[in-house]
Amino acid sequence: MKQNAIRHLLQSTDFDRPVVVQGWVRNRRGSKSVAFVHLNDGSCLANIQVVVNVEEFAEEIIKKIAVGACLEVEGKLLASQGSEQACEVLAEKLVILGEADPEKYPLQPKAHSLEFLREIAHLRPRTATFGAIFRIRHHLGFAVHQYFHERGFFYWQSPIITASDAEGAGETFRVTTLPLAQMPKNETGAIDFTQDFFGREANLTVSGQLEAELGALGLGLVYTFGPTFRAENSNTTRHLAEFWMIEPEMAFYDAKDNQDLAEDFLKYLIRFVLTHCSEDLAFLEERFQKENSQKKKEEQSEMGLIEKLRFVLENEFVRISYTEAIDILQASPYHKKKKFKFEVKWGIDLQSEHERYLVEKHFRKPVILFDYPKEIKAFYMKQNEDGKTVRAMDILFPGIGEIVGGSQREEVLEKLQARTDALGLTQNLWWYLETRRFGTAPHSGFGLGFERLVQFVTGMGNIRDVIPYPRSPQSADF
Ligand code: ATP
Ligand code: MN
Repeated sequence: MKQNAIRHLLQSTDFDRPVVVQGWVRNRRGSKSVAFVHLNDGSCLANIQVVVNVEEFAEEIIKKIAVGACLEVEGKLLASQGSEQACEVLAEKLVILGEADPEKYPLQPKAHSLEFLREIAHLRPRTATFGAIFRIRHHLGFAVHQYFHERGFFYWQSPIITASDAEGAGETFRVTTLPLAQMPKNETGAIDFTQDFFGREANLTVSGQLEAELGALGLGLVYTFGPTFRAENSNTTRHLAEFWMIEPEMAFYDAKDNQDLAEDFLKYLIRFVLTHCSEDLAFLEERFQKENSQKKKEEQSEMGLIEKLRFVLENEFVRISYTEAIDILQASPYHKKKKFKFEVKWGIDLQSEHERYLVEKHFRKPVILFDYPKEIKAFYMKQNEDGKTVRAMDILFPGIGEIVGGSQREEVLEKLQARTDALGLTQNLWWYLETRRFGTAPHSGFGLGFERLVQFVTGMGNIRDVIPYPRSPQSADF
């Protein structure tokens, strides 16, 4: 490999030296005698300008320098004469690595809608917007590992194929090798899964939590960072059928420690991007502002993108119980004017309109809600003494709603088993229950949806635009 990353060249002041750049043509302008070619190799947002003296090259080559084509340029790095860039490359040798027919290439240098770009997701990494998003996504992923590693957590791999459904919600994708057209049946006429690959029903995991708990109850501090799958048919801007989740699980942490960690972690990640991705963020800020100004007044964000990130960093998250939240909602002018579509009373699962009211209208800050009614939360959450609530926590972010869901876990065998009995899960989860039978310990954890985080940081409105190849109902192209 002999090429120089454009990112490095653009920062260089070591002029008049020979360089090699490879990249895709983003734009070409100029006159009959000189062409200014803007080349991008994905290493950063900015393009490098290549100056081509047309007469020095074969006509055949000059013709092929079109938007979308891939070039290799050998030349000299020069201080730029134009004011738009610090340096440029004067071409001495040009190789067309890949042509792109300008009549057919879908990505012309003009604004394309995000919907259109989703249809050509195989090419969208070549756009400025998606380059910026995926570089930021990378940095966030890297920061996740760095954060936990520095704090003594171990990276833990929960299985992706599993026979347990963590939430008992039945919104899973099945994994089977049985012939669909001819499923074997048992005497009762039901499908005979004993003949299946695993000798039992299996599915893709909806969460790595249960197995992460097993890890924490031996290694102390662990975290998962892997794909999870949910067949929920929610065609929203915040749900994917395949998404990545980060799930730390900590022995000896109580509910408060759990909240402290989650808040510190989110702030660390945001700070990391502000420090390391300023060029990409500034670009996304511009698109955020433009998009925001085209929205209806009541849907507009009052803050810019970077301002919003700073705001989250500089303010403590509000922490209130579910019960207090219901009181606030019931006392709100929104409720009195009957502006909520869904009823507000103790016991309901908060709808996104309620969460948004709390975060965006009432507190105007991220909110941690805790102590939810036990009926609306999962079986493994620690039961409070009041007999009505569990030590759950959800973290709500402006524009996103729920970004984190977690809890202190029930560590008392009898209490946990009463719940798994009621749900018919005891037999399947014998291994999970055994961790409470032998050397049980208080412990807590949470799940952060990675794409919701990337959405918040990049300001993108639709979750399908922050993962390379989104999976959603009726859509699994690429
Ligand atoms: P929601 O109510 O928004 O559907 P949930 O209560 O199902 O979320 P959890 O089961 O607690 O979410 O999952 C933990 C985190 O994973 C959520 O806080 C969210 O950030 C993320 N998440 C959940 N479902 C999805 C999804 N379908 N697509 C992307 N991220 C998701
Ligand atoms: Mn959900």
